[in-house]
Amino acid sequence: PGKLKKGLEKTRGRFWLRLKDFLSFRQGIDESALEELEDILIGADIGVRPVQKLIEEIREAWKEKAITETSQINDFIKDRLKDGLHSWQTDIQYADKRPTVIMVVGVNGVGKTTSIAKLASFLMKEGKKVMLAAGDTFRAAAVDQLDIWCKRIGADIVKHQTGSDPAAVAYDAMEASIARGVDVLIVDTAGRLHTHDNLMKELIKIKRVIKKKIPDAPHEVLLVLDATTGQNAISQARMFREAVDVTGIFLAKLDGTAKGGIVLGMCNETEIPVKFIGLGEQADDIERFNPDLFVETLLE
Ligand code: GDP
Repeated sequence: PGKLKKGLEKTRGRFWLRLKDFLSFRQGIDESALEELEDILIGADIGVRPVQKLIEEIREAWKEKAITETSQINDFIKDRLKDGLHSWQTDIQYADKRPTVIMVVGVNGVGKTTSIAKLASFLMKEGKKVMLAAGDTFRAAAVDQLDIWCKRIGADIVKHQTGSDPAAVAYDAMEASIARGVDVLIVDTAGRLHTHDNLMKELIKIKRVIKKKIPDAPHEVLLVLDATTGQNAISQARMFREAVDVTGIFLAKLDGTAKGGIVLGMCNETEIPVKFIGLGEQADDIERFNPDLFVETLLE
């Protein structure tokens, strides 16, 4: 909880302070108070539609006298936000039989390599045997970078040379992970090719190669998004979702933005659950996304 609170400092500073001021200085509720509240929530990057819905619910509760003072609004918002997130399955879906295969996708620069290392380290701390596949063979430094992370955290890696066929890397990694009794295989993929179409085709091909070995794999397709890019992250999610069935979002760099509120609307806007959040540059700056804890910390 301390780590989350620290990671959300920027977001809390902006969103929470305004909300707190509003709740402590406003006395009764009226239409102008609701308007002001709507402005504050929209400024919190939750997304316009979710905010309008929330305001409508508050207005109804006020008319029905379920809410009579502004001091009750904070708890009301917390409950609503939590309810909205509870319908999403935020745990990793593990395979019944080893290995669980997690394919990781995302455009260059979002924090994909770092997030993969964090995820590997997180799972290793849970006692799992983890292997990584260096499938981003297109970008010159990607294989080396992942290799450096693996040495740092002590994870196994399957890699070929830069420029080699990423599908072959995935195939070798599948074989190796089965042979060595690995619990979780994390497969990195390219974050940029010459064209968008090529990238999507490549991801589909890698998925097919994985399925050749284990038909119900990959068990997760995690999309890494950069929280600091706000709405841009949401359009990336839609783009990837069309090509490969993304099963979860890893939202990186949440510590680097005051727009942390986007997490709250993201599941609904993308129809993909947020499963992990990145809160810094180190291997242990990762948290499993816990809706209740997140909302409580934000609106403490
Ligand atoms: P990739 O190109 O998507 O593989 O991105 P990298 O993993 O190389 O990360 C790009 C930059 O973002 C690096 O400087 C990372 O240290 C930084 N980064 C990644 N995740 C986080 C995070 O959760 N918080 C912060 N503050 N920086 C991050």
